[in-house]
Amino acid sequence: MLQQFITRYSELNLGKYKVNEPLAPYTTWKIGGPADVLVEPAGKEQIVQTVRLLHDMQLPWMAIGRGSNMLVSDKGMRGVVIHTGHALDYVRQEDNLVHAGAGLSFIKLSVLTGNMGLSGLEYAGGIPGTVGGAVYMNAGAHGSDVSRIFESAEIVLETGELVRYRTEDMKFAYRHSVLHEIRGIVLEATFRLEHGDRHEIKALNAANKERRLRTQPLQAACAGSVFRNPPGDFSARLVEEAGLKGFRIGGAEVSTLHANFIVNTGQATASDVLTLMERIQQTIKDRYGVELVPEVLVVGER
Ligand SMILES: Cc1cc2nc3c(=O)[nH]c(=O)nc-3n(C[C@H](O)[C@H](O)[C@H](O)COP(=O)(O)OP(=O)(O)OC[C@H]3O[C@@H](n4cnc5c(N)ncnc54)[C@H](O)[C@@H]3O)c2cc1C
Repeated sequence: MLQQFITRYSELNLGKYKVNEPLAPYTTWKIGGPADVLVEPAGKEQIVQTVRLLHDMQLPWMAIGRGSNMLVSDKGMRGVVIHTGHALDYVRQEDNLVHAGAGLSFIKLSVLTGNMGLSGLEYAGGIPGTVGGAVYMNAGAHGSDVSRIFESAEIVLETGELVRYRTEDMKFAYRHSVLHEIRGIVLEATFRLEHGDRHEIKALNAANKERRLRTQPLQAACAGSVFRNPPGDFSARLVEEAGLKGFRIGGAEVSTLHANFIVNTGQATASDVLTLMERIQQTIKDRYGVELVPEVLVVGER
């Protein structure tokens, strides 16, 4: 069936594809086995057609943006991985509304809207994913998140139906959106921002960036916060207090800078990271009776 999919995808001229493609380079953790097939549809219409084809053929698929919140298993992904990538990396301004393609870097969007003198995305300056991934995760920082500025999104559902979802459809919550419950690909998101002072926006952006550089291992291969914060507390505080900073399994290490980050010191496998995550969860449960829940998404064949 996969071969039939590739044949049809090529005949329809939907974009690039790669067979048995290692996913590690597509993730910020630089970890993960191969996808049976990785496709990079050339544009919006091609993504829609790809999803329709996959639906007709009943093949499993997954979207990947920047891979900055994902742990791909060592065996990799069966089926088809749709890399939104650079095909949808545009931005269009309409007064205080900004329409952004799902493949655009969220950091770039933050910079561009700052240059436009639009306020609201200053918090996004250090979140290294795509617009699509940010909507999926309701990415947030510094007391804000996507839900605060979200207007609507154009989404292709797994059935191939094209819909426009507004905030009330999105079920936004802490690192959650309706896209965790139904399957679909964000093609474009529209954000409602506020006119502001360009210099103030840029200064806030720079301050946020500076704070991150001080507190997060941004040069290392990592995927941001590994665990969600438990109600009323911080995972990093618990992990640090438990003395786990610097604790290592194989090539995976609890960051010495930020206790809720796990860094790949060079040769870490997904299995190293998973074992380390389990050890952290067990330690925190034994000591504090708190169940840490992963924020990173563990995907692929186990
Ligand atoms: C150094 C560092 C710092 C970070 N700091 C923060 C932070 O402060 N706040 C925060 O919230 N996160 C943070 N993260 C995590 C991560 O950057 C965000 O969750 C980001 O929004 C994920 O986007 P992505 O494109 O990388 O998504 P991916 O990791 O590629 O995918 C995540 C999920 O989104 C889905 N997805 C991706 N694109 C689409 C699409 N177009 N349509 C539908 N679904 C899609 C994927 O299928 C997957 O289920 C950080 C990560 C790093 C490495």
